[in-house]
Amino acid sequence: MGPQGRYLPWLLLLPPVVAAAVARPNFVLVLADDLGYGDLGCYGHPSSATPHLDRLAARGLRFTDFYSSAAVCSPSRAALLTGRLPVRSGIYPGVFDPGSRGGLPLAEVTVAEVLKARGYATAMVGKWHLGFGHNGSFLPVHQGFDHFLGVPYSHDQGPCQNLTCFPPDTKCFGTCDQGVVPLPLLWNQSIVQQPVSFPELVPLYNKFSRDFIADCARQGRPFLLYYASHHTHYPQFASREFAGRTRRGPFGDALAEFDGSVGQLLQALQENGLENSTLVFFTSDNGPSTLRMARGGSAGHLRCGKGTTYEGGMREPAVAFWPGRIVPGVTHELASTLDILPTLSALAGAALPKVALDGFDLSPLLFGSGKSPRQAVFFFPPSPDPLHGPFAVRLGKYKAHYYTQGSFHSGTTPDQACHGLTPLTPHLPPLLFDLESDPAENYDLLQGRPGPEVLRALRDITLQKVLLEQRLDFGESQMGKGRDASLQPCCAPKCSPKPSCCRCSPR
Ligand code: MG
Repeated sequence: MGPQGRYLPWLLLLPPVVAAAVARPNFVLVLADDLGYGDLGCYGHPSSATPHLDRLAARGLRFTDFYSSAAVCSPSRAALLTGRLPVRSGIYPGVFDPGSRGGLPLAEVTVAEVLKARGYATAMVGKWHLGFGHNGSFLPVHQGFDHFLGVPYSHDQGPCQNLTCFPPDTKCFGTCDQGVVPLPLLWNQSIVQQPVSFPELVPLYNKFSRDFIADCARQGRPFLLYYASHHTHYPQFASREFAGRTRRGPFGDALAEFDGSVGQLLQALQENGLENSTLVFFTSDNGPSTLRMARGGSAGHLRCGKGTTYEGGMREPAVAFWPGRIVPGVTHELASTLDILPTLSALAGAALPKVALDGFDLSPLLFGSGKSPRQAVFFFPPSPDPLHGPFAVRLGKYKAHYYTQGSFHSGTTPDQACHGLTPLTPHLPPLLFDLESDPAENYDLLQGRPGPEVLRALRDITLQKVLLEQRLDFGESQMGKGRDASLQPCCAPKCSPKPSCCRCSPR
Protein backbone atom coordinates (compact mmCIF):
# COMPACT_ATOMS: atom_id res chain seq x y z
CA MET A 1 0.00 0.00 0.00
CA GLY A 2 1.43 3.39 -0.97
CA PRO A 3 1.68 6.31 1.45
CA GLN A 4 -1.67 7.69 0.22
CA GLY A 5 -3.39 4.32 0.57
CA ARG A 6 -4.46 4.51 4.19
CA TYR A 7 -6.24 7.81 3.52
CA LEU A 8 -8.38 6.46 0.69
CA PRO A 9 -11.59 5.94 2.69
CA TRP A 10 -11.44 9.56 3.81
CA LEU A 11 -10.79 10.83 0.29
CA LEU A 12 -14.00 9.20 -0.91
CA LEU A 13 -15.99 11.22 1.64
CA LEU A 14 -14.48 14.57 0.67
CA PRO A 15 -15.77 16.88 -2.05
CA PRO A 16 -13.68 16.51 -5.26
CA VAL A 17 -11.78 19.80 -4.93
CA VAL A 18 -10.44 18.95 -1.48
CA ALA A 19 -9.60 15.42 -2.55
CA ALA A 20 -7.59 16.80 -5.47
CA ALA A 21 -5.71 19.16 -3.15
CA VAL A 22 -4.71 16.25 -0.91
CA ALA A 23 -3.66 14.19 -3.92
CA ARG A 24 -1.40 17.02 -5.06
CA PRO A 25 0.11 18.58 -1.94
CA ASN A 26 1.80 21.96 -2.00
CA PHE A 27 5.54 22.22 -1.54
CA VAL A 28 7.57 24.95 0.11
CA LEU A 29 11.27 24.34 -0.36
CA VAL A 30 13.38 26.60 1.87
CA LEU A 31 17.10 26.76 1.21
CA ALA A 32 19.60 28.63 3.38
CA ASP A 33 22.98 29.70 2.00
CA ASP A 34 26.27 28.70 3.65
CA LEU A 35 24.41 27.83 6.83
CA GLY A 36 26.35 25.22 8.79
CA TYR A 37 25.33 22.10 10.65
CA GLY A 38 25.81 23.81 13.99
CA ASP A 39 24.16 27.17 13.34
CA LEU A 40 20.59 26.65 14.53
CA GLY A 41 19.24 26.57 18.05
CA CYS A 42 17.65 23.17 17.31
CA TYR A 43 21.08 21.85 16.25
CA GLY A 44 22.71 23.01 19.44
CA HIS A 45 23.96 26.55 18.79
CA PRO A 46 24.01 28.36 22.14
CA SER A 47 23.41 31.96 21.00
CA SER A 48 21.46 31.77 17.72
CA ALA A 49 17.88 33.04 17.80
CA THR A 50 15.92 30.71 15.51
CA PRO A 51 12.51 30.25 17.17
CA HIS A 52 10.61 29.50 13.95
CA LEU A 53 13.09 26.95 12.64
CA ASP A 54 13.26 25.40 16.11
CA ARG A 55 9.47 25.09 16.13
CA LEU A 56 9.54 23.62 12.61
CA ALA A 57 12.06 21.04 13.83
CA ALA A 58 10.08 20.27 16.99
CA ARG A 59 6.87 19.70 15.02
CA GLY A 60 8.53 18.04 12.01
CA LEU A 61 11.09 15.38 11.17
CA ARG A 62 14.61 16.62 11.89
CA PHE A 63 17.49 14.95 10.04
CA THR A 64 20.88 14.35 11.64
CA ASP A 65 22.47 12.82 8.51
CA PHE A 66 21.26 14.92 5.62
CA TYR A 67 23.66 15.97 2.87
CA SER A 68 23.87 18.60 0.19
CA SER A 69 25.39 17.38 -3.05
CA ALA A 70 28.26 19.84 -3.32
CA ALA A 71 30.30 22.02 -0.99
CA VAL A 72 29.71 25.25 -2.97
CA CYS A 73 26.62 27.06 -4.26
CA SER A 74 26.03 26.46 -7.98
CA PRO A 75 26.52 22.68 -8.15
CA SER A 76 24.59 22.21 -4.91
CA ARG A 77 21.60 24.09 -6.34
CA ALA A 78 21.78 22.21 -9.64
CA ALA A 79 21.59 18.91 -7.73
CA LEU A 80 18.70 20.08 -5.58
CA LEU A 81 16.60 21.11 -8.59
CA THR A 82 17.45 18.21 -10.92
CA GLY A 83 17.98 15.20 -8.62
CA ARG A 84 21.25 14.59 -10.46
CA LEU A 85 24.88 14.78 -9.39
CA PRO A 86 26.05 18.17 -10.62
CA VAL A 87 28.84 16.74 -12.77
CA ARG A 88 26.15 15.20 -14.98
CA SER A 89 24.72 18.61 -15.82
CA GLY A 90 28.18 20.17 -16.24
CA ILE A 91 28.01 22.45 -13.19
CA TYR A 92 31.76 22.44 -12.43
CA PRO A 93 34.38 23.58 -11.63
CA GLY A 94 33.39 26.19 -9.05
CA VAL A 95 30.43 28.54 -9.36
CA PHE A 96 28.89 30.89 -11.92
CA ASP A 97 30.01 34.51 -12.26
CA PRO A 98 27.95 37.55 -13.33
CA GLY A 99 29.30 37.22 -16.90
CA SER A 100 29.42 33.43 -17.19
CA ARG A 101 28.55 32.16 -20.65
CA GLY A 102 27.21 28.89 -19.26
CA GLY A 103 24.30 28.00 -17.03
CA LEU A 104 22.22 25.03 -15.96
CA PRO A 105 21.48 23.55 -19.42
CA LEU A 106 17.87 24.16 -20.41
CA ALA A 107 17.59 20.48 -21.36
CA GLU A 108 17.97 19.57 -17.67
CA VAL A 109 14.57 18.86 -16.11
CA THR A 110 14.01 20.69 -12.83
CA VAL A 111 11.57 19.81 -10.07
CA ALA A 112 9.64 22.93 -11.11
CA GLU A 113 9.21 21.56 -14.63
CA VAL A 114 8.16 18.16 -13.29
CA LEU A 115 5.48 19.73 -11.07
CA LYS A 116 4.36 22.28 -13.63
CA ALA A 117 3.52 19.40 -15.96
CA ARG A 118 1.22 18.14 -13.17
CA GLY A 119 -0.64 21.46 -13.06
CA TYR A 120 1.32 23.11 -10.28
CA ALA A 121 1.86 26.85 -10.02
CA THR A 122 5.57 27.45 -9.48
CA ALA A 123 7.55 30.38 -8.08
CA MET A 124 11.05 31.05 -6.97
CA VAL A 125 12.32 33.78 -4.72
CA GLY A 126 15.92 34.60 -3.79
CA LYS A 127 19.27 33.39 -5.04
CA TRP A 128 19.39 31.44 -8.30
CA HIS A 129 23.10 31.01 -9.12
CA LEU A 130 22.56 28.68 -12.05
CA GLY A 131 23.54 31.14 -14.76
CA PHE A 132 22.22 34.35 -16.30
CA GLY A 133 23.25 33.97 -19.93
CA HIS A 134 22.25 36.12 -22.90
CA ASN A 135 19.58 38.55 -21.65
CA GLY A 136 18.68 36.17 -18.89
CA SER A 137 18.33 33.05 -21.01
CA PHE A 138 19.31 30.79 -18.07
CA LEU A 139 16.99 32.37 -15.48
CA PRO A 140 14.38 30.41 -13.45
CA VAL A 141 11.53 31.39 -15.81
CA HIS A 142 13.24 29.16 -18.40
CA GLN A 143 13.50 26.25 -15.96
CA GLY A 144 9.88 25.75 -14.98
CA PHE A 145 9.25 28.66 -12.61
CA ASP A 146 6.22 30.78 -13.52
CA HIS A 147 7.47 33.63 -11.35
CA PHE A 148 10.87 34.77 -10.12
CA LEU A 149 11.86 37.54 -7.77
CA GLY A 150 15.51 37.47 -6.85
CA VAL A 151 19.17 37.79 -7.64
CA PRO A 152 20.89 35.74 -10.35
CA TYR A 153 23.99 34.86 -8.26
CA SER A 154 25.62 35.44 -4.86
CA HIS A 155 25.19 38.84 -3.29
CA ASP A 156 28.94 39.28 -2.82
CA GLN A 157 29.40 39.07 -6.62
CA GLY A 158 28.98 42.81 -7.02
CA PRO A 159 30.63 45.83 -5.33
CA CYS A 160 29.27 46.29 -1.80
CA GLN A 161 31.71 48.64 -0.04
CA ASN A 162 29.37 51.66 -0.03
CA LEU A 163 26.13 49.76 0.40
CA THR A 164 24.14 49.67 3.62
CA CYS A 165 23.88 46.15 5.02
CA PHE A 166 22.22 47.02 8.34
CA PRO A 167 19.92 50.03 8.92
CA PRO A 168 20.13 52.80 9.69
CA ASP A 169 23.49 53.01 7.93
CA THR A 170 26.00 50.28 8.76
CA LYS A 171 27.97 49.63 5.60
CA CYS A 172 28.60 46.09 4.41
CA PHE A 173 31.63 44.56 6.12
CA GLY A 174 34.64 43.52 4.04
CA THR A 175 35.09 43.40 0.31
CA CYS A 176 32.86 41.99 -2.39
CA ASP A 177 33.71 41.42 -6.06
CA GLN A 178 34.98 44.51 -7.89
CA GLY A 179 34.93 45.23 -11.60
CA VAL A 180 31.50 43.71 -12.18
CA VAL A 181 28.02 45.26 -12.38
CA PRO A 182 26.22 46.28 -9.18
CA LEU A 183 24.02 43.49 -7.84
CA PRO A 184 20.68 43.38 -9.73
CA LEU A 185 17.24 42.46 -8.41
CA LEU A 186 15.16 40.72 -11.05
CA TRP A 187 11.46 40.20 -11.43
CA ASN A 188 11.15 37.38 -13.95
CA GLN A 189 13.64 38.64 -16.56
CA SER A 190 13.50 42.38 -15.85
CA ILE A 191 15.94 44.23 -13.62
CA VAL A 192 13.83 46.20 -11.16
CA GLN A 193 16.63 47.55 -8.96
CA GLN A 194 20.41 47.83 -9.29
CA PRO A 195 22.16 47.68 -6.90
CA VAL A 196 19.88 45.76 -4.57
CA SER A 197 18.90 47.51 -1.36
CA PHE A 198 19.85 44.91 1.24
CA PRO A 199 17.70 46.21 4.12
CA GLU A 200 14.59 46.11 1.90
CA LEU A 201 15.25 42.81 0.16
CA VAL A 202 13.87 40.18 2.51
CA PRO A 203 10.63 42.08 3.28
CA LEU A 204 10.05 42.14 -0.51
CA TYR A 205 10.73 38.41 -0.75
CA ASN A 206 8.35 37.70 2.10
CA LYS A 207 5.55 39.75 0.59
CA PHE A 208 6.04 38.07 -2.79
CA SER A 209 5.89 34.65 -1.13
CA ARG A 210 2.81 35.42 0.96
CA ASP A 211 1.00 36.82 -2.10
CA PHE A 212 1.90 33.77 -4.17
CA ILE A 213 0.62 31.39 -1.48
CA ALA A 214 -2.61 33.38 -1.09
CA ASP A 215 -3.16 33.49 -4.87
CA CYS A 216 -2.72 29.74 -5.19
CA ALA A 217 -5.07 29.16 -2.25
CA ARG A 218 -7.69 31.40 -3.88
CA GLN A 219 -7.40 29.49 -7.15
CA GLY A 220 -7.33 26.12 -5.40
CA ARG A 221 -4.15 25.33 -7.29
CA PRO A 222 -1.30 23.22 -5.90
CA PHE A 223 2.03 25.01 -5.87
CA LEU A 224 5.78 24.80 -5.49
CA LEU A 225 7.47 27.73 -3.79
CA TYR A 226 11.27 27.61 -3.82
CA TYR A 227 12.53 30.12 -1.27
CA ALA A 228 16.31 30.34 -1.68
CA SER A 229 17.49 32.79 0.94
CA HIS A 230 20.74 34.77 0.70
CA HIS A 231 21.18 34.20 4.41
CA THR A 232 23.62 33.44 5.86
CA HIS A 233 26.09 33.94 3.00
CA TYR A 234 28.64 36.74 3.35
CA PRO A 235 28.26 39.76 3.60
CA GLN A 236 25.69 39.58 6.38
CA PHE A 237 22.74 41.97 6.16
CA ALA A 238 19.26 42.40 7.62
CA SER A 239 16.25 44.72 7.63
CA ARG A 240 15.46 47.19 10.40
CA GLU A 241 13.40 44.62 12.29
CA PHE A 242 16.45 42.40 12.83
CA ALA A 243 19.45 44.76 12.78
CA GLY A 244 21.30 44.61 16.09
CA ARG A 245 18.66 42.39 17.67
CA THR A 246 20.52 39.17 18.48
CA ARG A 247 23.26 38.02 20.82
CA ARG A 248 25.25 36.53 17.94
CA GLY A 249 26.13 39.79 16.17
CA PRO A 250 25.77 40.41 12.40
CA PHE A 251 25.61 36.70 11.56
CA GLY A 252 22.96 36.18 14.21
CA ASP A 253 20.92 39.13 12.92
CA ALA A 254 21.01 37.80 9.34
CA LEU A 255 20.07 34.35 10.57
CA ALA A 256 17.23 35.81 12.62
CA GLU A 257 15.89 37.54 9.51
CA PHE A 258 15.96 34.21 7.68
CA ASP A 259 14.22 32.57 10.61
CA GLY A 260 11.61 35.34 10.50
CA SER A 261 10.94 34.52 6.84
CA VAL A 262 10.31 30.90 7.75
CA GLY A 263 7.84 32.16 10.34
CA GLN A 264 6.05 34.25 7.70
CA LEU A 265 5.83 31.32 5.29
CA LEU A 266 4.30 29.11 7.99
CA GLN A 267 1.89 31.86 8.94
CA ALA A 268 0.80 32.30 5.31
CA LEU A 269 0.13 28.58 5.02
CA GLN A 270 -1.91 28.64 8.20
CA GLU A 271 -3.91 31.74 7.26
CA ASN A 272 -4.82 30.18 3.92
CA GLY A 273 -5.79 26.84 5.46
CA LEU A 274 -2.95 25.03 3.71
CA GLU A 275 -0.84 23.83 6.64
CA ASN A 276 -2.20 20.28 6.45
CA SER A 277 -1.82 19.98 2.69
CA THR A 278 1.72 21.37 2.37
CA LEU A 279 5.12 19.75 2.77
CA VAL A 280 7.67 22.29 3.97
CA PHE A 281 11.26 21.17 3.50
CA PHE A 282 14.18 23.16 4.83
CA THR A 283 17.93 22.69 4.35
CA SER A 284 21.12 24.55 3.34
CA ASP A 285 23.21 24.48 0.16
CA ASN A 286 26.64 23.88 1.72
CA GLY A 287 28.64 24.23 4.89
CA PRO A 288 29.77 27.42 6.63
CA SER A 289 32.33 29.85 5.27
CA THR A 290 34.65 29.81 8.27
CA LEU A 291 36.95 32.14 6.32
CA ARG A 292 34.59 34.86 7.57
CA MET A 293 35.35 34.00 11.18
CA ALA A 294 32.57 35.13 13.54
CA ARG A 295 30.70 36.54 10.52
CA GLY A 296 30.60 33.08 8.92
CA GLY A 297 28.65 30.07 10.12
CA SER A 298 29.49 27.07 12.23
CA ALA A 299 29.68 23.39 11.38
CA GLY A 300 29.30 22.57 15.08
CA HIS A 301 31.47 19.58 15.93
CA LEU A 302 31.84 18.55 12.28
CA ARG A 303 35.18 18.89 10.52
CA CYS A 304 35.93 21.87 8.21
CA GLY A 305 33.26 23.69 6.20
CA LYS A 306 32.42 25.13 2.80
CA GLY A 307 34.46 23.95 -0.15
CA THR A 308 35.63 20.69 1.46
CA THR A 309 34.43 17.10 1.29
CA TYR A 310 34.70 16.71 5.06
CA GLU A 311 31.40 16.48 6.92
CA GLY A 312 31.32 20.20 7.69
CA GLY A 313 31.28 20.99 3.97
CA MET A 314 28.22 18.98 3.06
CA ARG A 315 26.27 17.67 6.06
CA GLU A 316 23.42 20.11 6.61
CA PRO A 317 20.60 20.83 8.97
CA ALA A 318 17.31 19.64 7.42
CA VAL A 319 13.67 19.42 8.48
CA ALA A 320 10.58 17.98 6.79
CA PHE A 321 7.35 19.46 8.13
CA TRP A 322 3.80 18.43 7.33
CA PRO A 323 1.36 18.52 10.23
CA GLY A 324 -0.93 15.50 10.27
CA ARG A 325 1.24 13.54 7.82
CA ILE A 326 4.80 13.60 9.14
CA VAL A 327 5.18 12.44 12.72
CA PRO A 328 7.48 14.77 14.70
CA GLY A 329 10.82 13.26 15.59
CA VAL A 330 14.48 12.89 14.72
CA THR A 331 15.87 10.58 12.05
CA HIS A 332 19.44 9.33 11.66
CA GLU A 333 18.72 7.87 8.23
CA LEU A 334 20.79 9.00 5.24
CA ALA A 335 19.19 11.50 2.87
CA SER A 336 20.31 14.09 0.35
CA THR A 337 19.15 17.11 -1.63
CA LEU A 338 19.27 14.71 -4.59
CA ASP A 339 16.20 13.00 -3.10
CA ILE A 340 14.00 16.10 -3.23
CA LEU A 341 12.94 15.78 -6.89
CA PRO A 342 12.04 12.06 -6.70
CA THR A 343 10.18 12.60 -3.40
CA LEU A 344 8.15 15.59 -4.56
CA SER A 345 7.41 13.88 -7.88
CA ALA A 346 6.08 10.81 -6.07
CA LEU A 347 3.91 12.86 -3.72
CA ALA A 348 2.48 14.87 -6.62
CA GLY A 349 1.91 11.78 -8.77
CA ALA A 350 4.18 13.32 -11.41
CA ALA A 351 6.25 11.37 -13.91
CA LEU A 352 10.00 11.28 -13.32
CA PRO A 353 12.24 12.73 -16.02
CA LYS A 354 13.61 10.03 -18.31
CA VAL A 355 17.25 10.67 -17.43
CA ALA A 356 19.79 9.15 -15.05
CA LEU A 357 18.72 10.28 -11.57
CA ASP A 358 20.82 10.05 -8.40
CA GLY A 359 18.01 10.53 -5.89
CA PHE A 360 15.42 8.36 -4.14
CA ASP A 361 11.82 8.79 -3.06
CA LEU A 362 11.99 9.45 0.69
CA SER A 363 8.22 8.94 1.26
CA PRO A 364 8.66 5.73 3.30
CA LEU A 365 10.98 7.57 5.66
CA LEU A 366 8.88 10.75 5.86
CA PHE A 367 5.65 8.93 6.63
CA GLY A 368 7.13 6.49 9.09
CA SER A 369 6.53 3.31 7.14
CA GLY A 370 10.15 2.49 6.43
CA LYS A 371 13.78 3.39 6.19
CA SER A 372 15.52 5.70 3.77
CA PRO A 373 16.15 3.99 0.44
CA ARG A 374 19.50 5.82 0.31
CA GLN A 375 22.53 3.68 1.18
CA ALA A 376 25.42 5.83 -0.03
CA VAL A 377 26.48 9.46 -0.33
CA PHE A 378 29.18 10.62 -2.76
CA PHE A 379 31.33 13.66 -2.00
CA PHE A 380 32.66 15.51 -5.04
CA PRO A 381 35.03 18.47 -4.61
CA PRO A 382 34.24 21.91 -6.08
CA SER A 383 36.54 21.10 -9.03
CA PRO A 384 35.71 17.48 -9.87
CA ASP A 385 37.18 15.51 -12.75
CA PRO A 386 36.70 11.98 -14.07
CA LEU A 387 40.25 10.99 -13.12
CA HIS A 388 39.75 11.52 -9.39
CA GLY A 389 36.01 10.83 -9.21
CA PRO A 390 34.35 11.35 -5.83
CA PHE A 391 36.85 12.38 -3.13
CA ALA A 392 34.88 10.50 -0.48
CA VAL A 393 32.04 7.99 -0.19
CA ARG A 394 29.75 7.26 2.75
CA LEU A 395 28.07 3.88 2.98
CA GLY A 396 25.95 3.33 6.06
CA LYS A 397 27.90 4.68 9.01
CA TYR A 398 31.32 4.44 7.33
CA LYS A 399 32.96 7.13 5.23
CA ALA A 400 36.14 6.70 3.20
CA HIS A 401 38.23 9.63 1.93
CA TYR A 402 40.23 8.74 -1.18
CA TYR A 403 41.38 12.34 -1.58
CA THR A 404 41.26 15.34 0.69
CA GLN A 405 41.92 18.99 -0.04
CA GLY A 406 41.55 22.21 1.93
CA SER A 407 39.53 25.19 0.74
CA PHE A 408 40.04 28.91 1.28
CA HIS A 409 36.35 29.02 2.29
CA SER A 410 37.29 26.87 5.28
CA GLY A 411 40.19 28.97 6.52
CA THR A 412 40.84 30.35 10.02
CA THR A 413 39.79 27.29 12.05
CA PRO A 414 42.54 25.52 14.08
CA ASP A 415 42.41 22.42 11.84
CA GLN A 416 45.06 22.85 9.13
CA ALA A 417 43.44 20.15 6.96
CA CYS A 418 40.60 22.57 6.21
CA HIS A 419 42.71 25.49 4.98
CA GLY A 420 43.10 26.69 1.42
CA LEU A 421 46.83 26.02 1.33
CA THR A 422 46.40 22.33 2.17
CA PRO A 423 46.88 20.66 -1.21
CA LEU A 424 45.13 17.77 -2.88
CA THR A 425 46.28 14.66 -1.02
CA PRO A 426 45.62 11.10 -2.19
CA HIS A 427 44.99 8.46 0.48
CA LEU A 428 45.87 4.86 -0.28
CA PRO A 429 44.46 3.12 1.63
CA PRO A 430 41.73 5.73 2.16
CA LEU A 431 41.03 7.42 5.46
CA LEU A 432 38.12 5.54 7.00
CA PHE A 433 35.84 6.94 9.68
CA ASP A 434 32.88 5.59 11.63
CA LEU A 435 30.54 8.59 11.51
CA GLU A 436 28.33 7.27 14.27
CA SER A 437 31.03 6.96 16.91
CA ASP A 438 33.22 9.67 15.35
CA PRO A 439 31.15 12.24 13.41
CA ALA A 440 34.04 14.71 13.61
CA GLU A 441 36.25 12.44 11.43
CA ASN A 442 39.11 12.43 13.93
CA TYR A 443 40.10 8.76 14.18
CA ASP A 444 41.11 6.83 11.08
CA LEU A 445 39.98 3.23 11.56
CA LEU A 446 42.75 1.90 9.34
CA GLN A 447 45.44 3.36 11.58
CA GLY A 448 44.85 0.74 14.27
CA ARG A 449 44.42 -2.93 13.65
CA PRO A 450 41.14 -3.00 11.72
CA GLY A 451 38.78 -5.89 12.39
CA PRO A 452 36.84 -7.86 9.77
CA GLU A 453 33.79 -5.57 9.89
CA VAL A 454 35.92 -2.52 9.10
CA LEU A 455 37.71 -4.29 6.26
CA ARG A 456 34.37 -5.46 4.86
CA ALA A 457 33.09 -1.86 5.03
CA LEU A 458 36.16 -0.64 3.18
CA ARG A 459 35.63 -3.23 0.44
CA ASP A 460 31.92 -2.36 0.11
CA ILE A 461 32.59 1.39 -0.07
CA THR A 462 35.28 0.95 -2.70
CA LEU A 463 32.84 -1.14 -4.72
CA GLN A 464 30.24 1.65 -4.48
CA LYS A 465 32.81 4.11 -5.77
CA VAL A 466 33.76 1.92 -8.71
CA LEU A 467 30.11 1.25 -9.60
CA LEU A 468 29.29 4.96 -9.56
CA GLU A 469 32.29 5.83 -11.69
CA GLN A 470 31.23 3.24 -14.25
CA ARG A 471 27.79 4.79 -14.72
CA LEU A 472 28.69 8.46 -14.28
CA ASP A 473 28.98 10.69 -17.32
CA PHE A 474 30.52 14.12 -16.88
CA GLY A 475 28.48 16.68 -18.82
CA GLU A 476 30.23 19.44 -20.74
CA SER A 477 31.64 21.92 -18.21
CA GLN A 478 29.45 25.03 -18.14
CA MET A 479 32.11 27.03 -16.29
CA GLY A 480 34.57 25.96 -18.97
CA LYS A 481 32.64 28.11 -21.44
CA GLY A 482 34.27 31.13 -19.81
CA ARG A 483 33.02 34.65 -19.26
CA ASP A 484 31.92 37.57 -21.36
CA ALA A 485 31.63 40.94 -19.58
CA SER A 486 28.92 42.05 -22.02
CA LEU A 487 26.61 39.33 -20.64
CA GLN A 488 26.51 40.85 -17.14
CA PRO A 489 23.00 42.05 -16.25
CA CYS A 490 22.69 45.83 -16.70
CA CYS A 491 19.49 47.85 -16.27
CA ALA A 492 20.81 50.63 -18.54
CA PRO A 493 22.39 48.67 -21.40
CA LYS A 494 23.62 51.75 -23.29
CA CYS A 495 25.18 53.53 -20.27
CA SER A 496 28.85 54.37 -19.82
CA PRO A 497 31.29 53.70 -18.22
CA LYS A 498 30.50 50.10 -17.54
CA PRO A 499 30.12 48.24 -15.31
CA SER A 500 29.61 50.91 -12.62
CA CYS A 501 26.97 52.89 -14.59
CA CYS A 502 24.46 50.03 -14.38
CA ARG A 503 22.28 51.64 -11.73
CA CYS A 504 18.50 51.99 -11.50
CA SER A 505 16.00 52.67 -8.74
CA PRO A 506 12.64 50.94 -8.67
CA ARG A 507 9.95 52.87 -10.54
MG1 MG B 1 26.29 28.61 -0.58
